[in-house]
Amino acid sequence: MRSLAIVGATGSIGTQALEVVRAEPGRYDVVALGASTSVETLAKQAVEFRPRVVALADASRAGDLAALLPDGTDLVTGPDALATISTAADVVVNGVVGFAGLPVTLAALEAGKRLALANKESLIAAGPVVQRARSTPGAELIPVDSEHCAVHQCLRANAGGDPTKVARIVLTASGGPFRGRSRAELAGITVDDALAHPTWKMGPKITVDSSTLMNKGLEVIEAHELFGVDYDHIDVVVHPQSVVHSMVEFADGATIAQLSLPDMRLPIGYALAYPDRASTPFGRIDWAELRRLDFEAPDLDAFPCLRLAYAAGRAGETAPAWLNAANEIAVDAFLDGLIPWTAIADVLAEALDRHDGSTADSAEAVVAADRAARQLAHRLIDKRTAA
Ligand code: MG
Repeated sequence: MRSLAIVGATGSIGTQALEVVRAEPGRYDVVALGASTSVETLAKQAVEFRPRVVALADASRAGDLAALLPDGTDLVTGPDALATISTAADVVVNGVVGFAGLPVTLAALEAGKRLALANKESLIAAGPVVQRARSTPGAELIPVDSEHCAVHQCLRANAGGDPTKVARIVLTASGGPFRGRSRAELAGITVDDALAHPTWKMGPKITVDSSTLMNKGLEVIEAHELFGVDYDHIDVVVHPQSVVHSMVEFADGATIAQLSLPDMRLPIGYALAYPDRASTPFGRIDWAELRRLDFEAPDLDAFPCLRLAYAAGRAGETAPAWLNAANEIAVDAFLDGLIPWTAIADVLAEALDRHDGSTADSAEAVVAADRAARQLAHRLIDKRTAA
């Protein structure tokens, strides 16, 4: 049996990973579960899956959790707890939200484990540092992001072939709930509007990122880091049905695409089972029902976040960390009702203009850039709310 550590176990990715485990009995042994604060859900999961160890980042709730855990399950708590359990299994699922997932990413790779990475922010913000960790013997990074899982599958069509024959990666974007609206029509969007994603069921942070197309921008950087393809050869196309999850075009003009219904349990199951496949389909395409697949170019005037992400990616070093950190703060401020939806992109543009040019030669340098960008974003938001 393949052993699993699921970090961020109580969130959207973690709970869906456990659904995959339930669907394939006898295949996976959940040996570690970790969460930031959700004591009750984590305890229920521990009672069902009987992991050897459970981690809780919020040490102040340690007593509450300890009282609910079954016999034979150890508890570790505190800020390093999630990274501690990330060396405990064959496959580590990183479903932590945001930059906070970096220690889990680094711990899993440096221990030579397979990292099933749903926490794209750690790879995006700390690209050069994560790449070094990725070269650890045994370490393997399989993306749990539908687009990158698709690209990973498409690239298998070129297995054994010359990698320079990959002409371009085409990432698909659903376009989010505001597809087709002009910049003027985007004023006055509410939090509920932004959280109503047309095709995907996800957590609030990534759902807002999808509405601004920042999620797609971050995924462009993610694709660059994962597959080593330069930014001139990564394109984005809007595809509202979310059935084609991404494509790879080869030097001879052949394009390979991966299609399936939009359900995160497929990329999760793929990353757990690779190079084999999950035995369970979470939905299958009904071709008579599907009828059409539409594609259109993204509107970069209405959704400038996508352009900002390309700019940060091309600048490299800590620019992606800087943009990602400012985005986390701006999205929180929007969700808290402090700034309008259109101000997210404005704050990010101002923040990226003031990037300090620092290099990403260590995890500490990336953490410092992340912290500086958060402070800057707070100042930019305070200035707006005071005005
Ligand atoms: Mg995605």
